[in-house]
Amino acid sequence: MDEEGAKSHAATNFPLISLVVPFYNEEFMVEAFFRAVLPVLRSIPKAQYEVICVNDGSTDSTQQKLLAARASDPHICIIELSRNFGKEAALTAGIHEARGAAIIPFDADLQDPPDIIQQLVARWQEGFDMVLAKRVSRHTDTYVKRGTAALFYRLHNAISDTTIPENTGDFRLMSRQVVEALKQLPENRRFMKGLFAWVGFRTSVVEYVRKPRADGKSKFSGWKLWNLALEGLTSFGTLPLRMWTYIGGTVAGLALFYAAYLILRTLFRGVDVPGYASIITMVLFLGGVQLIGIGMIGEYVGRIYMEAKRRPSYIVRKIYR
Ligand code: UDP
Ligand code: MG
Repeated sequence: MDEEGAKSHAATNFPLISLVVPFYNEEFMVEAFFRAVLPVLRSIPKAQYEVICVNDGSTDSTQQKLLAARASDPHICIIELSRNFGKEAALTAGIHEARGAAIIPFDADLQDPPDIIQQLVARWQEGFDMVLAKRVSRHTDTYVKRGTAALFYRLHNAISDTTIPENTGDFRLMSRQVVEALKQLPENRRFMKGLFAWVGFRTSVVEYVRKPRADGKSKFSGWKLWNLALEGLTSFGTLPLRMWTYIGGTVAGLALFYAAYLILRTLFRGVDVPGYASIITMVLFLGGVQLIGIGMIGEYVGRIYMEAKRRPSYIVRKIYR
């Protein structure tokens, strides 16, 4: 009976839905994850599913736990990367391996409720190419994270040509067409949120409430998030690079006026107390502005250097299909 059921399921031509999940040291989450997600995937009407698990170089027992899960459900596929490449690279690896007509990146920590998957799929079946899952509140994030995230979105959207919708993560549904477009983008330093937004297509939004992490710790420290934000800001626009022309111009202009004023004052009123304070202030200020400018150029030169090496963004150790 069971086998027959499985056969009839396989024989149908229902579209395949791929869930792509990066795992980095999530040994405490693996079992709970499948317990929560598999029933949802199985209950989607008129669809087959696969779960592409990307083990992003975990150093705990995540790999063994994934293999055990796969033994009980062959729809689970595991991509083991050769080391930790970071979430963006892990997602890229999973998306490349996914065969589904619809592809959904999903976090292993169950912060995003799995039932939303059904709503995403329903929207997709209505004809949308991209369905965003948007957080209605970030009350589970700390005050600082909320504030810095809001600042990041505002700054990013103000200075770059692609607008990232606020409060959407990687959690979304993409049609095969969108994924093929994504795969064509050649850059190997990947800021996924930006790339997702860049490819465009007919987009719809489903709203949901994000929960705190079910177990384990967040893998994103403040420093990692800062780097991600820099990556995002510098990969989708060159304004941070170009604005130094204007800042430099303004400062130089003001300095000229000030010089004129000083000369006139010396001509009419003679030399008074040597202006040590004003000189040292100006020197320090200009030095600071120049250093920031050089740092900004360094950001971009660094990116050019990394891209010029044409290294792949991840290396696969083994695929369990
Ligand atoms: N992750 C990964 N590689 C990393 C860091 C994180 O694959 O180097 C995965 C992690 O296992 C989880 C997802 O990315 O499935 C999101 O990570 P996390 O929950 O720590 O991020 P947060 O929700 O705190 O932003
Ligand atoms: Mg998380």
